[in-house]
Amino acid sequence: MEKWPLGVFASLDAGFGVHLEVAHELGVPTIQLHAPKRASRTPEVAKKFLDRLESLGIRLTVVFGGFEGESYADIPTTRRTVGLVPCETRAARATEMKEISDFARLLNVDAIGLHVGFVPHDPTHETYIDVVRVTQAVCDHASRNRQSVNLETGQESADTLLRFIDDVGRDNLGVNFDPANMILYGSGEPLLALEKVGAFVRSVHCKDALWSNQPGETWGTEVPLGEGAVGMEAYLRTLDKIGYHGPLTIEREIPQDPARQKAEIGRALNLLREIKAELA
Ligand code: MG
Repeated sequence: MEKWPLGVFASLDAGFGVHLEVAHELGVPTIQLHAPKRASRTPEVAKKFLDRLESLGIRLTVVFGGFEGESYADIPTTRRTVGLVPCETRAARATEMKEISDFARLLNVDAIGLHVGFVPHDPTHETYIDVVRVTQAVCDHASRNRQSVNLETGQESADTLLRFIDDVGRDNLGVNFDPANMILYGSGEPLLALEKVGAFVRSVHCKDALWSNQPGETWGTEVPLGEGAVGMEAYLRTLDKIGYHGPLTIEREIPQDPARQKAEIGRALNLLREIKAELA
């Protein structure tokens, strides 16, 4: 298989990602998909989508779960609302994640992804212990569907993430590495983090950002690929070093401005093509 096939985040219903036709126009061979809402997670929708993927020559690599009620408005709101961490919704969301795994199976996909949320730093904390337990249950379900579970990075440091993966203790638990999130959340230097979690990286996002002047308290700023603090060439060199040669999935979520989104993704693809050629 080609080293580092390019990719974009796409959506099936009115979600964040680009539409399949846009991915096709941009000449992108792979996508990750935002899981559609429950009403669309049917065998009929899956079959139709698979047919479209096939006709466009696009390969689906990861299905990402997201949940009703999540908000990334600011860091405290994200902490309160995202992933499997909030107590009130934990059980229902773990169940939904298993349903998303089943839908991903219908799409012949061998990886699901999610933001697990802000895992507490204290491993003896009740929330930590229960999040480990439900993550094990999600992993076991995904394992029966022959899938890995890729945790989106950013909300915790590399060390906290490694301890969490170790405590969950499931072979199919891995990482979807997002270097910009490390900056946006102020969770640590992305490339150092990438080297630390390298053995667990199963998929990646290509996204860029600038640091906040109060890292960890207020958001950094997401910017077009190549204009932020990640350093895309160094990022790809580090991916090479850890032995990751899978898809490079561009994530640029400005659905309110599809024309700008398409133009920026086009430039991001060109940048990645240049760097790939240089490192080949
Ligand atoms: Mg991401």
